[in-house]
Amino acid sequence: MKLSGLFNRLMSRIYPPRCPYCDGVISEDRLSCDECAKKLEVLPVCSYAMGGVPCLSPFPYDPPYSDAVKRMKFHRRPSYAPRLAAQMALIIAEREKTDFDVITCVPVHPKRIRRRGFNQAELLARELASLTEVPYEPMLRKTRDNPPQHKMNGFPEKIKNVRGLFKVEGSAPRGRRVLIVDDVITSGATLGACARALKNSGASAVSCVTVCGQRNK
Ligand SMILES: [Zn+2]
Repeated sequence: MKLSGLFNRLMSRIYPPRCPYCDGVISEDRLSCDECAKKLEVLPVCSYAMGGVPCLSPFPYDPPYSDAVKRMKFHRRPSYAPRLAAQMALIIAEREKTDFDVITCVPVHPKRIRRRGFNQAELLARELASLTEVPYEPMLRKTRDNPPQHKMNGFPEKIKNVRGLFKVEGSAPRGRRVLIVDDVITSGATLGACARALKNSGASAVSCVTVCGQRNK
């Protein structure tokens, strides 16, 4: 057995793959458990981030999909990432929306990565990149550890909270069509601020994909 195979086996003993929608343990080759597979409804949600940037999501922000993104982030479920990214890849393929050259993600502040262990958007973006065979490249950096958007009152406060928050760093977006990945779009202010930073640095087009979207947007 190769060392990486042994490592993966040990990791899957410690963190067995789980169904994102009910958290039950599943085998490595499954996207969900049998029970959830029967109920799984992919209802693509089309919405817009701030600035009119289009965003596609396989699921609405309702249970069990909203629970999946919350557990992934707050209860350390990195094994959800390939399974949720597969649903993103499926709707992208279905809608023939493969009009991007590079995939990046909404960054989190290093302080939060230390606490959480990973950036859920980055895990999703890396998995989506390997499924779509489009390269993943980190492009954005968060300039300050701002308070969470859900703690803001109203849209104007949310916009203020993300103003100047993202800087382009790492590989250059100039002349490229960029797809930004995040776990969820709510007000669209965060993704909009990321898109703006990328466009200001010369990205020729920006679109977004998230696991969950807002149905009424
Ligand atoms: Zn399940």
